[in-house]
Amino acid sequence: MAGAEMATKFLLRTFGCQMNEHDSERIAGVLSSRGMEQTGDLESADVVVFNTCCIRENADNKLYGNLGVLKSLKQSRPGLQIAVGGCLAQKDRELIVTRAPHVDVVFGTHNVGRVADLLDMAMSGGGNVVEVLDSADPGEDGSAGFAHALPAIRENAHSSWVTIQVGCDNSCAFCIVPSVRGKEVSRPVDEVVGEVSTLVAQGVTEVTLLGQNVNSYGRDITRRRPLFADLLARVGAVPGIRRVRFTSPHPKDLRPEVIEAMATVPQVCEHLHLPLQSGSDRVLAVMHRGYTAQRYMERLAAARAAVDDLAVTTDIIVGFPGETDEDFERTLEVVAEAAYDSAYTFVFSPRAGTEAASMSDRFVPDEVVAERFDRLKVVVERSALLRHEARVGRIEEILVEGPSKRDPAMLTGRTRQNKLVHCPMPAGGEVQPGNYGEVRVDRASPHFLRGEWVSPTSRPRRRTRLAVLAG
Ligand code: SF4
Repeated sequence: MAGAEMATKFLLRTFGCQMNEHDSERIAGVLSSRGMEQTGDLESADVVVFNTCCIRENADNKLYGNLGVLKSLKQSRPGLQIAVGGCLAQKDRELIVTRAPHVDVVFGTHNVGRVADLLDMAMSGGGNVVEVLDSADPGEDGSAGFAHALPAIRENAHSSWVTIQVGCDNSCAFCIVPSVRGKEVSRPVDEVVGEVSTLVAQGVTEVTLLGQNVNSYGRDITRRRPLFADLLARVGAVPGIRRVRFTSPHPKDLRPEVIEAMATVPQVCEHLHLPLQSGSDRVLAVMHRGYTAQRYMERLAAARAAVDDLAVTTDIIVGFPGETDEDFERTLEVVAEAAYDSAYTFVFSPRAGTEAASMSDRFVPDEVVAERFDRLKVVVERSALLRHEARVGRIEEILVEGPSKRDPAMLTGRTRQNKLVHCPMPAGGEVQPGNYGEVRVDRASPHFLRGEWVSPTSRPRRRTRLAVLAG
């Protein structure tokens, strides 16, 4: 890194999921701890870091397109350093510098804490540095492992992600994660709880526990009992924590103990993201999802019976190879029956290296997929609107995120069910990000609620729980 009177500036671009966004907070923290300043302006940046994703469609085209743009900039400013990290870097490794030799540093998902050192090595050695580790095992030199001990620059001072697990032991036919992020490795419970306590001391009141399959958390530590249920209770008991969220659970591993913990630990929010992917048993089997639609619905019913006022969201893939009209109709039926609060709907696109990518003889024509996608969206938005309309007139607790990006006279916040609420800034503007308050919901749309500010709340709102627990 350039040492000068003026601070070195870095520009950080993140692609992909929450796990990547969380890693980017650590990357920003590590670079800032070395005296660097974050900038959003490419022209003034001395270092550009791409934290990449290989799950999204055309991820490599996007990365190499971005790197192509930087090539001419680097020719005019040879001191500019470019680093590529994240899942695509973990997967492609040296291939990145072969295809884009102007990249200075390639680092993987297990060594984000090394980014500043690697930039220094590239600067002093004058060549590309590629360091990608195969596991989250800390090793003797501590260069890998969970990034929890690293400094972080969080977008939001009161809310934080906490990684509890990396990797995935499943083999969903459409997913590249297991081959990129490796086998499941869980952080010990005490370590997670220790991080949450530290975050509370920094002003955090809401945490989201992150893993590829949180329901199997701890399976690599003990199979005696589901540790995720214990973890929810331990994290919820940390003094100062008001909200605990988690993502993503796998339906096949949603155990009664976890539902019970959701129902009995008051800090655990009433929101369950339960990816369905397809409503057709035939497609679910080809995907290797490990459940049938009926089994999925039984688990969903158990969660709804136990957890009062539970919001449920999901992920659905449209046009998985070989999906017939009949398969898709079944998906529509299950989605209608599940009556989701919202759904992330994706058009299938092959990811190189996955089983589904090799099924090209069964790819569904684009126009068929587009038509199915539109039909699915109608069904999802109908149930989302109904669920939201049922909240009109209710008082909801929100955690204030801040002024609306579109209209500073409005503030936005999230309910315990993770619903986005917009409401006019109360007179006096005394409400700050991180405050809790009550709003009266007065309008609903499929994607957000509108409300009127009622009053701040200083104490967590305790909910009434149904006593029916999953058997
Ligand atoms: S559970 Fe399936 S979709 Fe989720 S990360 Fe693992 S392989 Fe991918």
